[in-house]
Amino acid sequence: MIDVKDLHKTYGKAEVLKGIDVSIQKGEVVVVIGPSGSGKSTFLRCLNLLETPTSGDICLDSQNITGKNINIDKVREKMGMVFQQFNLFPHKTVCQNICHAPIRVKGMKQQKAKELAIELLKKVGLLEKIDVYPFSLSGGQQQRIAIARALAMKPEVMLFDEPTSALDPEMVGEVLAVMKDLAREGMTMVVVTHEMGFAKEVGDRILFIDQGKILEENNPKEFFEHPKHPRTIDFLSKVL
Ligand code: ADP
Ligand code: MG
Repeated sequence: MIDVKDLHKTYGKAEVLKGIDVSIQKGEVVVVIGPSGSGKSTFLRCLNLLETPTSGDICLDSQNITGKNINIDKVREKMGMVFQQFNLFPHKTVCQNICHAPIRVKGMKQQKAKELAIELLKKVGLLEKIDVYPFSLSGGQQQRIAIARALAMKPEVMLFDEPTSALDPEMVGEVLAVMKDLAREGMTMVVVTHEMGFAKEVGDRILFIDQGKILEENNPKEFFEHPKHPRTIDFLSKVL
């Protein structure tokens, strides 16, 4: 579904991504781990063109999205993104947050959008919050709403950039549970996280990125039980 070939990203003189090659299958959950500053966020942001790759190719459904004449908005519609900071619209209710893009971008009718919001709020277990404003929600609840909002565009892929890193520990589980449900339903997901339990349990494949390169990739069992690269071993010794 996603095919990345020799992806490079440079800021000024700093080469942040130094040739990333990866293919992601439909329904696959790929977990990206690695030290801070290694290029994980940049990689995700290149995937949905929040950053313009310096060189290399990204194909989505066999369409090269790094080419000219690409409709960036159409690409982003196919990829939902959830950030560390939930970024809900503070002056909109939960319902309005979820309905915003379907109405504005897809021209969905108000009533239809509300039905969709109700369906998604049931999915993330927050239907009773439909009319409240984000400030009245806990961090974990806000992040579950952010996931519902991303799902409202019916994306083909969901990208998560450290979705639980800004949460108090007791709220991490509820967000991971929603993500686990999504994975079980067959959503294609790329997840940057430091939650190694989630990576082991839900990941189909782990990518270890260090200094802008994929140093090692494997299924979770092999990756965690028999890491091969010295830097992977060193990283795991610090986080496990
Ligand atoms: P990670 O998510 O793995 O912590 P990032 O992808 O955020 O890493 O960043 C990788 C490197 O790229 C860091 O050294 C960071 O300072 C640099 N970087 C990220 N975004 C920018 C930017 N917009 N301009 C310049 N440097 C950046
Ligand atoms: Mg990051």
